[in-house]
Amino acid sequence: MASSKGYSGKILKVDLTTGKFEEIETEKYKSWGGGHGIGSAIFFDLCTDKTIKGTDPGNVVTLMTSPLSGTLAPSVAGRTEVQGIGIQAYPIGWFTRSNFGGRFSTQLKFAGWDGIVLVGKSPKQVWLNIINGEVKLQDATDLWGLNTRETQEEIWARVEPSKKESGWINMGVSRDSGRTTQHPAVITAGPNAEKFGPMAALVHDAGNGAGQGGFGGVFASKNLKAISVVGTGGVDIADANALMAARMWSNGYAFGGHHDDPASYTGLTSFASTPGKPLSTIQDNPAGTKSRPQGCVGCIRNCRGRTDTGKGNESQCVDFFWYDHHDVKANGHVTDASPRAADAIQLAGVNAFAVEAATLWIEQLYNKGIMGKGKKIDSNLPFDRFGSGEWAEAFINSIVTQTDIGKELCKGVAQAALAWGRLEMDTKSGILPLQEWGLPHHYDARTEVEWGYGSLLGERDINEHDFNWHVYWTPTINGLFGVEPVVSAKRLSEIFAKKTAPFNDPMMINYSDEGIYSEAMAKTVAWHRHYTRFYKQSMLFCDWAWADMVNPYGPDNEGMTSVGENKFMNAVTGGDMTFEQGMEIGRRIWNLDRAVWALQGRHRDIEKFSEYCYTTGAQPGTTTYEAPYTMPVFEDNEWSYKSVAGRVLDRQRVEDWKTLFFKLEGWDVKSGWPTRETLEKLDLANVADELEKAGKLGA
Ligand code: SF4
Repeated sequence: MASSKGYSGKILKVDLTTGKFEEIETEKYKSWGGGHGIGSAIFFDLCTDKTIKGTDPGNVVTLMTSPLSGTLAPSVAGRTEVQGIGIQAYPIGWFTRSNFGGRFSTQLKFAGWDGIVLVGKSPKQVWLNIINGEVKLQDATDLWGLNTRETQEEIWARVEPSKKESGWINMGVSRDSGRTTQHPAVITAGPNAEKFGPMAALVHDAGNGAGQGGFGGVFASKNLKAISVVGTGGVDIADANALMAARMWSNGYAFGGHHDDPASYTGLTSFASTPGKPLSTIQDNPAGTKSRPQGCVGCIRNCRGRTDTGKGNESQCVDFFWYDHHDVKANGHVTDASPRAADAIQLAGVNAFAVEAATLWIEQLYNKGIMGKGKKIDSNLPFDRFGSGEWAEAFINSIVTQTDIGKELCKGVAQAALAWGRLEMDTKSGILPLQEWGLPHHYDARTEVEWGYGSLLGERDINEHDFNWHVYWTPTINGLFGVEPVVSAKRLSEIFAKKTAPFNDPMMINYSDEGIYSEAMAKTVAWHRHYTRFYKQSMLFCDWAWADMVNPYGPDNEGMTSVGENKFMNAVTGGDMTFEQGMEIGRRIWNLDRAVWALQGRHRDIEKFSEYCYTTGAQPGTTTYEAPYTMPVFEDNEWSYKSVAGRVLDRQRVEDWKTLFFKLEGWDVKSGWPTRETLEKLDLANVADELEKAGKLGA
C-alpha cells in the first residue's frame, strides 16, 4: 500500500485538556491500513499507562476512517471505527472497539482528515466542530442534557449558515469556501451520559450507533458531548475506472442486480441480502407500516428503513430485538411497543445489547418474585404491563435518570448483578446471560464456538457474522422450514476452505462435539480474528454485507470474499495487495491488541466463559437465538447438518483448545501472552520491549 491515494494524509489530534490541535501524518501509520489498525497503533504510542480506567483523562480515543471511506466501494464507505479503553466489560474495562455507519467517515474524509484522536479531558463541557480544515472546541453546557436527536438538530442549526440556496449550503462567505447539500455529520452521547457511562452508546443520525464499550460514557468523562464534521472536498482515487468496474462486477452478486430473477435460496447471505426482501430485512415494525430504504454512504444493501409512521426510524436488528419478543409475547403480535422501545434507546443513547440482556434477566427476576414492588429488589416499574411501550420507556428512563432499578443498572449489567448479590448465582444458572467479560450473550459459545472463542480471547462480543449466516442461520432456517439446503454441508466446507487463506482447511467449519475442540477450529478462530481486524475493522467493510462467503448469485454459490475486498482496495489506493497480505496485517493488529490486553492484566487463567456454559444447555427464554442450532458437522467420515442444541462445554477440553490456539498464534501457552519471537517477526519489537518491561512478555 505504497500509494497515498485514498488517504487524506492527516489525522486530527485534539488535546481536550489544553484545547490545542495537532496534525499527525497518516504516512507514519499507513502500514496498518486504516481504521482499527491505525487506531491501535496510535493508542499504543500515545497512551503511556495502559492500565488506567476508561474514564481516566489519560485514555486515548480514536475515531478512524479507511482509504475506502467516502468512495463508491459498496457497503464500506460510511463506517467509522471507534477505539479506546472501554468501561463496559467486567471486571476489567479492556482496550476495545466499536463501529458505526452513516455519513460520519465520509464527511471526515471530505473535510480532509483520516481520523480523530482525542486525548486528555476538557476543563468544561464542549463539542468539537470540524468544518473542512477549521477546527474548534465549542461550549456544550446547554447541550449536555439533550437527547441524541435534540443535540444533532441543535448542532446542525449552529453549524449551518442561515443562507441556503436551493438546498445547497455555502460553508463560508465566498463560493470558493465550498458548498454541500449535507447536514454536518454528528456523533453524540446521550443526556448526561457520564451518569450511565457503561451503558452509554454514541449515536449518529438515526439508527447508527457505536454501542459496545460504553464510549458514550467515555466521551462524557472527557467533558465531550459530540463531534460534528462537514467537508466539501473529496477522496483522491488511484483508478476511478477500476473502481467503477469493480462496483459493476459486484452488482452481479447483489439482489438489486437480479430483481427479475431472484435466486431460489432459502437462507441468509450478506451481500446478496434476502431474496424477495432486499431492504430493511430485520426491522420489526407493526403490520401495515410502510418504509423506504435507507443506508450508509455507498451501500448497496440499505438495510434500514424510514417509516411512514416516523417511529422506529432507521433502527434494526437488536435495536428492535431487545424488546420485540416481549412485545409479541404480551400482545400476540408486533405492536407500537417495538418501535417505541427502539426509539427510547436511540434517543437516550443506551446500548441495545446491554438492555437486551438486562431485560431477559429482569423478566426472570420478576417472574420468580425477586424483583417488583416491595420485593427484595424493589421496583416501581409497571411490570403488570411488561411488553408494552410504556414499560420499555420507563425502564430506559430509569437507567438514564439513575432512578428505581436504574440506580444500579446505570453502572452496567454485571455491576448491578454484583450490587444485588446475584452475579455469581445468576451467571451460574444462566438466567443472567452474560457470556464472557460480563458482556451480553449474543450467539451461543456452546454451539457456535467460533463466536464464543473469538469473544473470550478478544475483549468483547465479536458481533461478526462471517461464519454465522452460513453455519448457523441458513441450516437452522432450512431445518425449521423443512427445506433441502441449496448448499450441502460438504459443499459449504469446500467454499469456506477456498476462502480462508492462508489456512484453507475444510475442517474449519466442523461444529461436531469433537470439531469444536480441534486444531481446525483454532484455525477458524485465528482466521476470523485476522480477517476482521484488517478487512472489516481497518478497511471498514460492513459486517452486515461482508464477508461474502456464500452467495446464491455467485458462480457455484461462491461469494466475492478473498477476491472482492482487494479489488476495491487496490482500485482506490493504486496498490497491489493480495488477500493473504491483508490477512497478515490483520494478524499484526490482533497481536498488538493482545499485547495491550496483556498489559491491562489479561492471562489465560482468567479467560473463562461464565459458569452456565460449562454446566447448562441452552435454555429457552434466556437468550433470543437458542434453538435448534443446526450446524455443519463432520462425523463418521461424512458431512451433514445437525442440531447441536443443548450442548455444554467441557472445561478441560476448552483449556486444551486454548493451548492449541496459543501455539498456532505463536504465543506463550502458559500465559497466553505474545512472545518476542512472534512480535519481532511482525515488526513489533517495540511492543515486545514494553511487554518485557511490564513482566508480561510470553516465554
Ligand atoms: S449493510 Fe446497513 S449498516 Fe452496513 S453499510 Fe449498508 S446500510 Fe450501513
